[in-house]
Amino acid sequence: MSQTELRTRDGQATTVPDEVIATLAEALRGRLVQAADADYDDARAVWNGMVDKHPALIAQCAGVADVIASVNFAKEHDLLVAVRGGGHNAAGNAVCDGGLVIDLSMMKSVRVDPVAQTVRAEGGVTIGELDHESQAFGLAVPMGVVTETGIAGLTLAGGVGWLRRKYGLSCDNLVSADVVTASGELVTASSENNADLLWALQGGGGNFGVVTSFEFRAYPVGPEVFLAFVIHSGTGKDAQAALQFYREWSQATSDDISSFAILWHAPEIEEIPAEHHGAPIVVYLAMHAGDAADGEAALQSLREYGSPIADLSGATPYLEVQRFFDADYPAHEMRYYWKSRYLNDLSAEAMDALIGLNEASPSHHSTLDVWHLGGALGRVPPQNTAFGDRSAPYLVGIESNWERADDDAACIEWGRKVFRALEPFSSDREYFNFPGLYEEGDQSIRETFGANLGRLQSVKRKYDPDNLFRLNHNIPPADHST
Ligand SMILES: Cc1cc2nc3c(=O)[nH]c(=O)nc-3n(C[C@H](O)[C@H](O)[C@H](O)COP(=O)(O)OP(=O)(O)OC[C@H]3O[C@@H](n4cnc5c(N)ncnc54)[C@H](O)[C@@H]3O)c2cc1C
Repeated sequence: MSQTELRTRDGQATTVPDEVIATLAEALRGRLVQAADADYDDARAVWNGMVDKHPALIAQCAGVADVIASVNFAKEHDLLVAVRGGGHNAAGNAVCDGGLVIDLSMMKSVRVDPVAQTVRAEGGVTIGELDHESQAFGLAVPMGVVTETGIAGLTLAGGVGWLRRKYGLSCDNLVSADVVTASGELVTASSENNADLLWALQGGGGNFGVVTSFEFRAYPVGPEVFLAFVIHSGTGKDAQAALQFYREWSQATSDDISSFAILWHAPEIEEIPAEHHGAPIVVYLAMHAGDAADGEAALQSLREYGSPIADLSGATPYLEVQRFFDADYPAHEMRYYWKSRYLNDLSAEAMDALIGLNEASPSHHSTLDVWHLGGALGRVPPQNTAFGDRSAPYLVGIESNWERADDDAACIEWGRKVFRALEPFSSDREYFNFPGLYEEGDQSIRETFGANLGRLQSVKRKYDPDNLFRLNHNIPPADHST
């Protein structure tokens, strides 16, 4: 009898007879993809072109029944399990070598309730798909800033975007979720039922089960908003002054405005004069979430600072703002290594470090993104959600982005160097949606979850006592209930 080679949860080699695997294929309304299938390479590809993993089985689930069948099969054969929402996690944990991928990317249903202002979306929905349905009713759910990103991974680890200061993190707006737990049961997590699970899903990641559908609060936004997009020189004193102004300006803004200062190198686009192409730049990007005319007035002071290289600001459809960065992050063809640091302040020393590190970047596709936090997201007490502490005023997204495999070592090392260099200005927490390769391990779990870790371990023990769902920022099951 022929057998398929697989990996167990602990990474050991195992085999399962092909006729047993055929029973999983027959149990699915979706499809089971294996190495011999013509579309195997497409099915295992994720956003980060650096990730090249070879799962033994990819269960492309069509609905909850398929997810239950897949979880039960994994348990029965003690298989390594990866869970895939949008496949955009930079560390590539949506796939695994030799294990079973529970792939939700076919599960695309979105239902908007315009009266209750809620949106229910399945686990394979992307931000663009959620926006498309929500904006038909003039609504928006706070999500991230690139539309191809999956709502699932993003929400489970927090979720920062253009609405963060007005309406909070994506996970703050999670009202309920349907979850297939490690026992293969479907449970609903809400404030009335399994409230401990809802709390854990609000920032605790994919540790607790497979979320088959999410229910979010939504808010009236758009259809048009005002986007400020201003480009300044990013070298020496010019950069220092531009960041100094940004620090003061951002600290005085209302919650309507969510903004970044991005250190980058000028791309070769016609809106930027040719003499600046390839030179370091500081980009101000700010969206006002209210009426576009009010937004224009509120963002005027940002546009009036200094002598910009270009000012491309304007009233813009909200859906276009959401797509603003899409073209910069092509799937599969580019290579990415992303980490993060929360800054205690945008001090002069931190600015100097950022400016020097940007100038030294080995790839001009890389960026250092200073996200202004605070507002609604900052007011949620740390114990209210698993996400924890919200006190940092800024988050630096360390984005090492490059094209050629030959540059992997240099570009990963630059990302790590930035992470080390920013340590003196930072808390020890990390933002797990920019996880590097999870190399900080247990230490970053302890520091990031802080006082919430014990409670998270108890919830993990309740819903996944044998740590089936481990390819994530993994929380070890433990009993801290007494
Ligand atoms: C181009 C780009 C732009 C980004 N922009 C932002 C941004 O603006 N704001 C922000 O906060 N983050 C942003 N991110 C980071 C993003 O939030 C994470 O990469 C996130 O993991 C993406 O979710 P996904 O579902 O696409 O990922 P996947 O790789 O599919 O999943 C990531 C992990 O989440 C878990 N998971 C996924 N689906 C489920 C599920 N249904 N049930 C249980 N667990 C699940 C699994 O542990 C999985 O390993 C961006 C990422 C990219 C690539």
